Amino acid sequence: MKKQMNIAIDGPAGAGKSTVARMVAEQLGFIYIDTGAMYRALTYAALKQQSDIQDGSDLLKLLNETDIELVKNNGKQTVTVNNKDVGEEIRLIDVTSKVSYVARHPEVREEMVKRQQILAEQGGTVMDGRDIGTAVLPDAELKVFLTASVDERAKRRHEEQLSKGQPSDLEVLKEEIRNRDKIDSERETAPLKKAEDAVEIDSTKMSIDEVVKAILSLADERRGMIR
Ligand code: C5P
Repeated sequence: MKKQMNIAIDGPAGAGKSTVARMVAEQLGFIYIDTGAMYRALTYAALKQQSDIQDGSDLLKLLNETDIELVKNNGKQTVTVNNKDVGEEIRLIDVTSKVSYVARHPEVREEMVKRQQILAEQGGTVMDGRDIGTAVLPDAELKVFLTASVDERAKRRHEEQLSKGQPSDLEVLKEEIRNRDKIDSERETAPLKKAEDAVEIDSTKMSIDEVVKAILSLADERRGMIR
């Protein structure tokens, strides 16, 4: 039986979902589930194997043969593919630029959604992605749709890359974000879309702490709603 609520956080690329979701989970003592990392891990495996990313049944076969785990390593949440930590590799441009093509296949999504639903069965999770409120956890007690302008999202990514000493081009980032949002919003199966009962938070002019506070206060209001 579920004792704690599930919180779904959806929204476009680079809106700060993972940072915010991780902080909310920490504050509540919940488990953070990064569903984007699961799609990224499959994309990483597909690129390694030189699989055809246009072929959904091939990708499903690969997914069924690949061990993808969300784990904690040295206190940091990461993802492993067949026991190899690929936390850094999955954030690189080759994976980022291909992941939306992998995630658009219905066969792949069906299997991913099944896995994600099992992870949230007991409650007490904060799950971020694109279809959490609409498809993975339609009964989540709290659904947030987190947005920000494309310029602001690209600027945040740009600053993050530079702070890590990595090369970055603001215009390239804007293009990548726009392209990924387009594919994610236009796909047939579970496109990126605000669930009807989601609370929309536009973080363009908000700090991370302000967004976290807003979500924690909504969570507090919904505490009695466990389904
Ligand atoms: O959240 P993140 O940017 O890491 O997600 C990477 C990609 O994975 C998204 O652009 C989208 O194509 C896919 N994704 C998805 N459904 C989710 C989470 C991610 O289709 N629930």
